[in-house]
Amino acid sequence: MKRKISIIGAGLSGCEAALQLAARGYQVKLYEMRPLKQTEAHQSGLLAELVCSNSLKSTRLDTASGLLKAELHILGCMLLPIAHDCSVPAGHALAVDRSLFASRITQEIEANPQIQLFRQEITKLPEGKVIVATGPLSSSGLMHHLVSLLGEDQLFFFDAIAPIIDADSIDLDKVYAKARYDKGEPDYLNCAFEKDEYYRFVDALLEGEIHEAHEFEDAFFSGESFNFYENCIPIEELARRGKDTLRHGVMRPMGLEVPSTGQKAYAVLQLRAENKDRTAYNLVGCQTMLRYPEQKRIFKLIPGLADADFLRYGSIHRNTYLNSPLILSENLSLKARADVFVAGQLSGVEGYVECIATGLLVAGIIAGEIDSLPEETILGQLWRRLLVLQPKQSFSPVNANFGILPVLENAPRDKRLKRQMLCARSIQVLSSAFSKALAAEPIVRESD
Ligand SMILES: Cc1cc2nc3c(=O)[nH]c(=O)nc-3n(C[C@H](O)[C@H](O)[C@H](O)COP(=O)(O)OP(=O)(O)OC[C@H]3O[C@@H](n4cnc5c(N)ncnc54)[C@H](O)[C@@H]3O)c2cc1C
Repeated sequence: MKRKISIIGAGLSGCEAALQLAARGYQVKLYEMRPLKQTEAHQSGLLAELVCSNSLKSTRLDTASGLLKAELHILGCMLLPIAHDCSVPAGHALAVDRSLFASRITQEIEANPQIQLFRQEITKLPEGKVIVATGPLSSSGLMHHLVSLLGEDQLFFFDAIAPIIDADSIDLDKVYAKARYDKGEPDYLNCAFEKDEYYRFVDALLEGEIHEAHEFEDAFFSGESFNFYENCIPIEELARRGKDTLRHGVMRPMGLEVPSTGQKAYAVLQLRAENKDRTAYNLVGCQTMLRYPEQKRIFKLIPGLADADFLRYGSIHRNTYLNSPLILSENLSLKARADVFVAGQLSGVEGYVECIATGLLVAGIIAGEIDSLPEETILGQLWRRLLVLQPKQSFSPVNANFGILPVLENAPRDKRLKRQMLCARSIQVLSSAFSKALAAEPIVRESD
């Protein structure tokens, strides 16, 4: 019997999934609405178009992005070797000639006898096995359909991310663990501000340079001052409402007295653990539109974070994604329709390579070749993150970072060495778990 699949969206995740399943003998129907209907950010009718930067980030094996690429290589990724063929000089980063990259993938898909490409917007899920890979700018027609199938609460249209820092870079002599009013476990780390420290921080927020919103996001960030959903308000925007707004709101010090003095601080910023092992912490309430270098400069003014090492910067942008932990089964299919799988940014990952990775993952699951991944791998943890609801936190998209990996026993103090060891551990366990993986071009070449 012929194995068939429909894939909606021929972006990064959809194309990776299509090529993977075609290589395994599936008859693939791939639906792409462009160029007949454009998204707000794509410019062409080419498949797998990169909408912004032309960089797929680092290839170095002491970076999380480099590790994810190495894992994808082991698993036989199809798009990364094409990216290497289309690469342009960018130091250790894998940057591509975007039009060459998209053209090459379009040609591969169009020439593949197993794949039928339809230039058509899909507004209702087809019958049979389906992968939905319509990305952060999924068409509204399809989103209406998904809302009616899943319920309005199960889709997000915005993404407000607070920065995440490495636990090892926090000054534990300055911060203290304490639950507000000592109710419950002391799960949060607290950064207490003196009066002058607080106003210096607020002034820096007010003067900080912010990212320009994309034109299409102006519809959301509209008006004289930006018009944000209440739970997405950037910290610098709150500071603009009044110099004391933060210390009466997200940075209120009540019930968080400093243990060494027993006194109430002027303001307190809380850090929430990002993972069970507490290797990474989220700066609570610090979702922001500040430019990355500004985040680095300004958030280091927080007492105890002078040497903060940022695993991920904060951001706020238009992003359509599903409430995956509630609505997806372990195999990344919808609980409401077990034959419909979700890949790419819509599933709740973020970043070009992460999207390619979930295209590969879902294809592997559908083909019956992947039923689990070692917990030491970035891809295994990205997968897990799509399924585990963090207590009291709403689901927010995840990208490759070292904070999602389990701790390394007897880790060296040297950060670079520790990261190299985390990479080596992952590659070693994944290689032995998938020793029969396809051999593709090495991800880290001599010239990188
Ligand atoms: C403005 C913007 C900038 C970004 N910049 C970066 C960046 O610089 N670096 C980075 O790592 N990540 C970036 N991202 C995040 C993300 O990595 C990319 O958007 C990535 O391309 C998402 O991959 P995907 O496969 O999920 O979706 P896409 O690559 O967007 O592919 C989805 C495809 O589905 C099609 N489609 C949508 N709806 C339908 C429908 N109903 N029927 C048929 N086809 C449909 C679209 O036309 C599109 O071709 C950015 C996102 C946005 C929105």
